[in-house]
Amino acid sequence: MGKPTITFSKLVDKLLCHYGDPAPPPSTDPLELIIWENIAYLASDKRRAEAFAALKQTIGTRPEQILAAPHSALAAIGKAGILPDVSAEKLLTIAKIAYEEFDSDLRTVLKKPLPQAKKALKRFLSIGDPAAEKILLFTRSYPVFSLDSNGLRVLCRVGFADEQKNYSATYRLVQDAIREQLPRDYDSLIRSYRLLRQHGQELCKRSKPRCAKCPLRNVCAYGRTTAAAT
Ligand code: SF4
Repeated sequence: MGKPTITFSKLVDKLLCHYGDPAPPPSTDPLELIIWENIAYLASDKRRAEAFAALKQTIGTRPEQILAAPHSALAAIGKAGILPDVSAEKLLTIAKIAYEEFDSDLRTVLKKPLPQAKKALKRFLSIGDPAAEKILLFTRSYPVFSLDSNGLRVLCRVGFADEQKNYSATYRLVQDAIREQLPRDYDSLIRSYRLLRQHGQELCKRSKPRCAKCPLRNVCAYGRTTAAAT
């Protein structure tokens, strides 16, 4: 695919001009961010936010509060996605791990050296390396950069790396390509994550990206290929 024709910071600036400042992360608390990932299976951000608000209002997000809640109440919240009973079980498992292994306090473990902090987060369901790094970033524990699948797709299409058959390999290639260009401060890193995700959700969708409306169309390798073919 060759080298990208735009730097990472200029790309993010273009997205910022187009979308404006993104919404802040749903929480800055590590356990709440883990709960957010698991509260409703395959739910949109809007439905996930509704479920999260309902959990906070009716049950609470402390491990003890979740463990004391009836399964039916947790499943009712999980109805924001598919498989509500599975989501309820996940919340109970998360609360149990937080309570038994971390004394209900994940903030303390995030102060440990980076490998240990990541390892602790990965004890929880649905938390692999990218999600662990996102939590470290959103909690402002370590200024590491994370990408979700949307952001990864955008950066591949613009030309930062070729997409591989294996997601992890693609993720590593993109991270290697942008590492030296990344901002160092938390606000910029969080903004970059949120804007790339938003762009992948709204315009640079997996199928049928809306390149004609894209602020990156003049610098995007994939967009140029598509335009040449039409
Ligand atoms: S031009 Fe198309 S493929 Fe490229 S970033 Fe924009 S929407 Fe995505």
